[in-house]
Amino acid sequence: MSVQNVVEIEPVGPALSVVLGKLQAAYRADPAPSYEQRVDRLSRLHAGLMEFKDKIIDAVDQDFDGRAHAETMLAEILPILEGIRYYRKNLRKLMGQSKRHLPLMLMGAHAKVHYQPLGVVGIVVPWNFPVFLGLSPLVGALAAGNRAMIKTSEFAPNTADLLTEMISKHFTDEEVVVINGDVSVATEFTKLPFDHLVFTGSTPVGRIVMRAAAENLTPVTLELGGKSPVIIHDDFEIEEAAKRVVFGKGLNAGQICVSPDYVMVPRGKVDAFVAAFVKAFSHRYPTLAANKDYTSIITERQRDRLVENIEDAKAKGATVTAINPSNDSFEGTRKLPMHLVTDVTEDMRVMQEEIFGPILPVIPYDTLDDAIAYVNDRDRPLALYYFDWDKARGEKILNETHSGGVCINEVVTHVAVDDMPFGGVGPSGMGHYHGKEGFLNFSKAKGVVRKGKLDGNQCVGAPWDNKMFKLLVNFQLRRFRKP
Ligand code: NAD
Repeated sequence: MSVQNVVEIEPVGPALSVVLGKLQAAYRADPAPSYEQRVDRLSRLHAGLMEFKDKIIDAVDQDFDGRAHAETMLAEILPILEGIRYYRKNLRKLMGQSKRHLPLMLMGAHAKVHYQPLGVVGIVVPWNFPVFLGLSPLVGALAAGNRAMIKTSEFAPNTADLLTEMISKHFTDEEVVVINGDVSVATEFTKLPFDHLVFTGSTPVGRIVMRAAAENLTPVTLELGGKSPVIIHDDFEIEEAAKRVVFGKGLNAGQICVSPDYVMVPRGKVDAFVAAFVKAFSHRYPTLAANKDYTSIITERQRDRLVENIEDAKAKGATVTAINPSNDSFEGTRKLPMHLVTDVTEDMRVMQEEIFGPILPVIPYDTLDDAIAYVNDRDRPLALYYFDWDKARGEKILNETHSGGVCINEVVTHVAVDDMPFGGVGPSGMGHYHGKEGFLNFSKAKGVVRKGKLDGNQCVGAPWDNKMFKLLVNFQLRRFRKP
């Protein structure tokens, strides 16, 4: 296949609309791709990933200046392959038209929902999982029969180049195109009249993107960020909870949209949690600076932001525990040790902004209702984690809080369940991908009524004082006497 779908950044405007025009024309020429065509596209994505996976892992490592290879395999490559497998297995059923019931007045006709591709889907990707967050929405878009344009993150340029190479090799520029570039390109990209736009990134930029999409009335899926809380119940063993939180918070050094942002522990257990967390973290990451398992911060700017937030918390009276088990020096690296922050106050930046790095405030609470109220007083988060063996209290949390997703006695891994929708709520996002909901997100569910040879309207239509119509209305009113 040619490399025609390697698109250079300049000139920005016309080039992007020309690229989209080509995808739209190709879609119009073949608007109803069969099951086999969709599976073929998914299979080519699978083949591309298998071919490029080692190079992708190296590229992400380079972009981060140190990203654990295992994390790229675990959190980027494998979940995409899993997603492809899910749709290959379930696509026929998902594509099937679903029969629906008709109201009595339409007796004799048939009703069904026809799931139709939307056309061309735009996908905007952040830097933190630069492969998964581009290709996982792509999997759903392709399964639903769409074509796609992907805008990679400017902060993961090596990965972006490799994705471009991989997609150009396995897809034509009438199927999928990768666009690379900075914010100016992203701005132009999000103004394009896509049939659907998936944006993964920060909440402030999400607002800008939604405004741009509104000009075209382009429907959006916004996968945003936020502060995902952890609540640990008094009955749950604090050491066990700390170990489980360490697993998720350590991944990508906290640079995950669903990373635990702060932990709420019963008052009186703050010190015990801090001690248990330090022990569990030091066990998993005995060294940091030269440890390939511990990921660096993506850019100097992001690292500075995190350091400033730690300094801000200290200046405002917080107690900060830096976990640096072998007293490493971080000179010449972009790594940042994990920091636990206690004695926090609401005016600290760590309590106002999404943390998105290796900092974890620990906040005491008195009653479970207090903890729930604390969460509900703030923006609805992307994820919520609750530690408790009691199922009834788990249900209470599900019923009384809002969040994009929930893990009970666990953190982060709900993202990896393909058979479940993934997405935020309110300020943490809207719309879903993955699973059946992802297929629906990228499809138009078109309601269709098919009339047979017998046309009841001939008997009941105007003039409306006809006998049949009156009979039918009276019969209906008798049916509806009770709700
Ligand atoms: P970001 O919002 O700065 O950028 C994301 C993408 O938007 C990039 O491709 C960028 O080029 C583009 N962009 C930037 N400014 C733009 C503009 N004005 N108009 C149009 N596009 C623009 O986010 P980031 O720093 O790359 O990623 C971190 C954020 O993403 C965090 O808030 C995190 O929580 C969130 N995130 C969410 C999910 C999720 O699934 N909900 C997943 C990963 C990251």
